Amino acid sequence: PHGIQHVLRELGVQPQNAAYSTGRQWGRVSAATAKTIHSPADGHPIAAVSMASVEDYEQVVRTAQEAFKTWRLMPAPKRGEIVRQIGNKLREFKEPLGKLVSYEMGKIMQEGLGEVQEMIDICDFAVGLSRQLHGFTMHSERPAHRMYDQYQPLGIVGVISAFNFPVAVWSWNAMLAAVCGDVSIWKPSEKTPLVAVAVQHIIRDVLAENDVPEGVFNVIIGGAEIGAAMAADTRVPLVSATGSTRMGKKVGEVVGGRLGRALLELGGNNAIILTPHADLDMAMRAVVFGAVGTAGQRCTTTRRLIIHESIFEDVKQRLLAIYPKLPIGNPLQEGTLVGPLIDKQAVDMFTKALTAVQAEGGTLLIGGEVLAGADYPTGTYVTPALVEARNEYHTVQEETFAPILYLIRYSGGVEEAIALQNGVKQGLSSSIFTLNMREAEAFLSQTGSDCGIANVNIGTSGAEIGGAFGGEKETGGGRESGSDAWKVYMRRQTNTINYSDQLPLAQGIKFDV
Ligand code: NAD
Repeated sequence: PHGIQHVLRELGVQPQNAAYSTGRQWGRVSAATAKTIHSPADGHPIAAVSMASVEDYEQVVRTAQEAFKTWRLMPAPKRGEIVRQIGNKLREFKEPLGKLVSYEMGKIMQEGLGEVQEMIDICDFAVGLSRQLHGFTMHSERPAHRMYDQYQPLGIVGVISAFNFPVAVWSWNAMLAAVCGDVSIWKPSEKTPLVAVAVQHIIRDVLAENDVPEGVFNVIIGGAEIGAAMAADTRVPLVSATGSTRMGKKVGEVVGGRLGRALLELGGNNAIILTPHADLDMAMRAVVFGAVGTAGQRCTTTRRLIIHESIFEDVKQRLLAIYPKLPIGNPLQEGTLVGPLIDKQAVDMFTKALTAVQAEGGTLLIGGEVLAGADYPTGTYVTPALVEARNEYHTVQEETFAPILYLIRYSGGVEEAIALQNGVKQGLSSSIFTLNMREAEAFLSQTGSDCGIANVNIGTSGAEIGGAFGGEKETGGGRESGSDAWKVYMRRQTNTINYSDQLPLAQGIKFDV
């Protein structure tokens, strides 16, 4: 269906795929551990992939360790050149890869293509970065001394990724890691392994043409146990994990227990504040895209709308006019804006959250149905829900990874709205719509939003790669992608050089021997 067989051929995805690859080489295909992946769009089987064993993992780590010894010696701009070529290959395969992302994960085709574009963009960013891995130079307090800091490659970076950005998160990590002189081992979500297989096929020509050592870019397909092995492994100095807060707490504890480095990108509970000074026409586009885009399965999805009581009815009526018209359907179909949820378990969480929030006193205004019939053959299509609720409800406090938007009322000044916005455990993305300068600046001040991302007159989702991405509190504190996020992928060293014929001590200490 939808030319998928052609796409799979173009991307090198076989009916049966191996559990790992160390670059150009693939591991064995094992029928015994094969898992067939079905599309959430139409329920059809796409292809099968073997699940890695502990021995497979050992093989990958050993190859990566060897590769690091040579990769770190290559000048950073030369490593950047490899990344540049990877970016070009992704440009070539943007269409089929975007389509497979859409078919395997369920996001609409435009967003599948957008995700591949994000990979291309981060490649470009990383190429530039490969000539800008700057440290500072400091003035020494001692005469004829020079002091500076420099950044050195770290080693193996373990990348654990979630189903909802099945390829972009890899590129944010792996491309930065690569220019930094690190090697990476990617464990994609077991729900979306085929796009990872496809990516590995796409980059392998670049690796072959440039004689990149086997083991610089590795992928290993498996479940939580492979991620857990990586978290516990002292040979992996940095573990970058994207997924639920539940997963992040486990990974963070294990990595912390061995004093390794964890970069955690976990769940969000993102809010948009609408003040009486909001441009509502503009805000509605942001709210609807934020709440129902990717069927509510973005970490930055808008889950709470904090609305001043003076405009509450107006906003509610506007949303009630838009929601019934949302085109829900096959994500590959042109015109669809809302695709399916990833699986039936996700649908279950969606309906359970709606039942729970109503039991707490919330009012379901629209949506919440599970769609059936010929156009919705998988039981994974739902109608996005609007619920009038209060911020303190247990259900509102949790991230339900589905399209539910809670409408929450405030009556005082912007401080009250900010307190509600901050009044959850998560701290990823936040935004305010206002044309009032005092409100906007208060939101961005030290007493404003406590999130890693705070926007004015822009929604919560759809960040640019140029900024550092991540969040506070239970979102895990990690930052990846742009700005100076690269620093976590390197080890920092302070160097002081004495070119005098004396040995003066710091702090003027006298120690004559
Ligand atoms: P998930 O936590 O179920 O799985 C994510 C990954 O972690 C998978 O690869 C899984 O195999 C692995 N994993 C699970 N348990 C593990 C363990 N104990 N040790 C090691 N690895 C383990 O998440 P999901 O359902 O795939 O993704 C949705 C979640 O991801 C949402 O909470 C969403 O907000 C979050 N997310 C966050 C960001 C961000 O940048 N902050 C981005 C995308 C998704």
